[in-house]
Amino acid sequence: MTQHNFSIEFFPPKTPEGTEKLRATRAKLAELRPKYFSVTFGAGGSTQQGTLDTVLEIMREGHEAAPHLSCVGSSRATLRNILTEYKSHGIRKLVALRGDLPSGFGAVDLSSGEFRYANELVEFIRAETGDWFHIEVGAYPEMHPQARSPQEDVQNFARKVQAGADAAITQYFYNADAYFNFVDEAQKLNVNVPIVPGIMPITNYTQLMRFSDMCGTEIPRWIRLKLASYGDDAESIRAFGLDVVTQLCEQLLEGGAPGLHFYTLNQAGATMAIWQRLVD
Ligand SMILES: Cc1cc2nc3c(=O)[nH]c(=O)nc-3n(C[C@H](O)[C@H](O)[C@H](O)COP(=O)(O)OP(=O)(O)OC[C@H]3O[C@@H](n4cnc5c(N)ncnc54)[C@H](O)[C@@H]3O)c2cc1C
Repeated sequence: MTQHNFSIEFFPPKTPEGTEKLRATRAKLAELRPKYFSVTFGAGGSTQQGTLDTVLEIMREGHEAAPHLSCVGSSRATLRNILTEYKSHGIRKLVALRGDLPSGFGAVDLSSGEFRYANELVEFIRAETGDWFHIEVGAYPEMHPQARSPQEDVQNFARKVQAGADAAITQYFYNADAYFNFVDEAQKLNVNVPIVPGIMPITNYTQLMRFSDMCGTEIPRWIRLKLASYGDDAESIRAFGLDVVTQLCEQLLEGGAPGLHFYTLNQAGATMAIWQRLVD
């Protein structure tokens, strides 16, 4: 694998200690020479400044950086200002998402804002800024949890590409077949942009179960049972997780996946260990 097909995701730190820790994490992961780093964005604009600050710091260090941009709860005017600001800083790549409102926002009707779905955001970015940005969008091999059916979900994915997305990053998953099937279904709809698998290293059982419940990722039974059987034995969880996720990455790359996008949760260790095994 080369730097051309490998990317790394962070979230914007909320404290000075978090910022310091992310600098150290980044210094380690930069040695792997990823193609770019991406930085998440809280829906409703909650982390907008944190996202921009982190992106600018990464760019100052000489790396390509892509802010995520979500549209739910935002107005056209707000997003126009953000796009103008990103352009003024020479940012050329975005990860465009609908987003999910934080739980503190209460029950919000997603249909009431100025943007309902990510395809509308992609359309807006293209209308406002032409070809300035390379646009990545999200894809869901195991189906987005709010979709009515897998078929409708892949059609909705195709809308984002038709609106002007250049490539996609998937939600994380542990069933390679779900990814290959999704790519086949997208190709049947004439969607031929690169669909890069999102990879979540396994380091903590409780956290993994919580995230996966929220985003609709299936933890295969055999993986779940083994992780549960290790109890508090963090070392065994890490070792098993490393084996499982490295094998998943190998299977994906051998099957033709165009790259890998690592969800690091601002930790370097697991991604570096997987990467090392892949290049050995
Ligand atoms: C790579 C990646 C990065 C992410 N980063 C962030 C982040 O930084 N910040 C954040 O808040 N969230 C982030 N998320 C989470 C994401 O915001 C949620 O998964 C969200 O629920 C859906 O976003 P989307 O852009 O995929 O939505 P959409 O593509 O809009 O899809 C959302 C749902 O609506 C349906 N749908 C889509 N278009 C239509 C349509 N035209 N008509 C009817 N139904 C439709 C879809 O089938 C799906 O069920 C990320 C997800 C991924 C995969």
